[in-house]
Parts: sequence; C-alpha cells; structure tokens
Amino acid sequence: MRVFNFAPGPATLPAPVLEQARDELLDWRGSGMSVMEVSHRSKPFIAAAEEAEALLRELLSVPANYKVLFLQGGATGQFAAIPLNLAAADSTVDYLNTGAWSKKAIGEAKRLVARVNVVADEASSGYTTVPEAAALKLTAGAAYVHYTPNETIGGVEFPYVPATGAVPLVADMSSTILSRPIEVSKFGLIYAGAQKNIGPSGLTVVIVRDDLIGKARSGIPSVWDYKAMADEGSMLNTPATFAWYFAGLVFRWMKAQGGLTAIGERNRAKAQLLYAAIDGSGFYSNPVAVTARSWMNVPFTLRDPALDKTFLAEAQAAGLTNLAGHRSAGGMRASIYNAMPPEGVAALVAFMQEFQRRHG
Ligand SMILES: *Cc1c(COP(=O)(O)O)cnc(C)c1O
Repeated sequence: MRVFNFAPGPATLPAPVLEQARDELLDWRGSGMSVMEVSHRSKPFIAAAEEAEALLRELLSVPANYKVLFLQGGATGQFAAIPLNLAAADSTVDYLNTGAWSKKAIGEAKRLVARVNVVADEASSGYTTVPEAAALKLTAGAAYVHYTPNETIGGVEFPYVPATGAVPLVADMSSTILSRPIEVSKFGLIYAGAQKNIGPSGLTVVIVRDDLIGKARSGIPSVWDYKAMADEGSMLNTPATFAWYFAGLVFRWMKAQGGLTAIGERNRAKAQLLYAAIDGSGFYSNPVAVTARSWMNVPFTLRDPALDKTFLAEAQAAGLTNLAGHRSAGGMRASIYNAMPPEGVAALVAFMQEFQRRHG
C-alpha cells in the first residue's frame, strides 16, 4: 500500500512515473539492460537526456539564451559554485536572508567572496516574512543578488520576484521549481536540487544565462565550472544517469498534466485547502505571514505540543507519513510538492479534523 508521503525531500514522486520506471527497469527501451547499466555516451541515453532537457525547457519556457545543466553536488554544491563562477574573490555580492537555506548559502559565499552584503534579514519576524519589494536596498555593482524564493523549512515564500536591474538575480528554487509558471528571463541563474519537485536525489538542475558563463575564477575544479559543463553537455564526467532519466519521465508526466499553468492551479488549491483548515481550526496554527505562505511546505503547530507525538503516530497509522517539522523548528510540516495528489491533502485535512475532535 502506498502512503501519502509529506516528506520535505527526498519527497514523494508521481505514482504513474514510478510505475513506468518499474515497468522498464529490467529492459530499458529494448536494450536488455536497465537504464542504470547503459553508457551515458550511448545514443539511447543521450537521446533520453536531450529529451529531458527539451521537456524542461518547454515546461518553463526557457529562452534560447539560457543553458540548462544537469549537475551533481546538490543545491549545497551550488552555494559554492555560484560565487566561484559569478564573482571574483574581491567583489561584492548581495544576499537576502529569509531563513535556514538562505543562511547556508550566505555561509558558503562568505568563504569565497570578500564582501557578502546581507541586504535583507527577516530575523526580527522569526523568519515568518519576506522583505517588502520596495524596501530592498541593493548594492549597485554587486556581482549578483541571491535569494531563496521558497524556504523549505520555514514555509516562507516570496510572492514576487525581486527587481535587480542590471545585477543578475540568482534563485535557489530547490523546493519551488516547476510548481507554477515563472518568467525565466527575470533571472540570471536558477538552481534546484532534484529531490523535491523533479525526481530522485543526486541531480541538480542549473538554468543559467549565457553571458554569465565563462567567467569562472581560475583554479576552479572543472566539474564546478559552468562553461566546462555546458561545453560537454553536462557530461564532462559521468552524470547521475538514473536521476536524469527519471527527471525526464517526471517532466513528461507534468506536460501530460497540462503543464505548469494547470499544475500551478492544482498546487494553489491544495495549499488553500490546508491553510484554510489550519486557520479555521482554533487548534492548529501556522506562523507565516499570510502573503508569504508557501504553496509547497506548510509548517503548523498543535495548540498543545504534548500531543505532537500522538499526532504523528496516529497520522502514520492512517497512512500519512513524514509530517514531523524540521528538527530545528519542531511541530509539524506537510510538504505538498507537485507529486502530492489533491487526495493526499484532503486526507490530511480530514485526519486533522478528526484528531482535533478526539483530542481538542
Ligand atoms: C533541500 C534544499 C537545499 C539543499 O539541497 P541539497 O541537494 O541537499 O544540497 C538547498 N536549498 C533549498 C531551498 C532546499 O530546499
């Protein structure tokens, strides 16, 4: 029996895609092998890899002057790769701090760039808000501006894209990529670990504008150099073949769902259902400013934290798993990425109401 898995990442994957991967596991496209056993340099694998890229480009309407890279090292690898590729050691970079992942990105940048300006810091709200668009005071001439559109742990999401003028905007979209349409041309670089909204872990997608490629610092390892990777079609070394293949299946599934407009509407409805249940309960609560609430990660607490363990145990027994909040935050968190069906959110809401009736 499949459960509804609310894990933050690695996260639930679309059941039809898992079934397809199962069906072709032992004999992938007539090769007599699994896709994991096929050379990344073979024609069939290159065709699958190119198809995945084409589907991703189509879903996100990626303009032609952007490269799409399929890398390894996770979003955490990109925390370092971004300064190494986009900023000289003595340059200035701007970071917006809206929570745990912003902080990690800032920490890594500080090791690699002389001046890391934290131009907005939401600490005073306990990281339950995003900065006002009009209040952002960016540094003229910064090498780039980095922000985290969706904070996976805090459940805080920007309802707007910061305007940075000529300074390239860099976005860690690990937990929000492909959740709705975006305008890629507003960004210099978008990156995302795959294990939330794309597929299995081990793959990192980077979408980067052509003019930002080829400026890496000398001495940078080739696998972190966007130009070296772009020149080799992300196959400078052996890529994460299974994850890349699987991501292609997920992209095809997303297209069949109606693309990002349809998926975005579905995600909005899922989030609205859950937030309405929390807000209307008088028993559960979500601390995030209403305008900054995430569609993907919904943290909530119970009125009486002594009930947390019972809540988690009873949810687990009802087939609703991985609802514990991050170890730093406590409480609960429901991650409701693209692959979480609306029925999963409806089942969670029904369980929450029933739990409140018995324990409230
Ligand atoms: C999960 C996550 C990361 C870390 O990703 P790794 O692939 O584990 O390095 C970074 N940023 C955000 C927003 C995340 O959700």
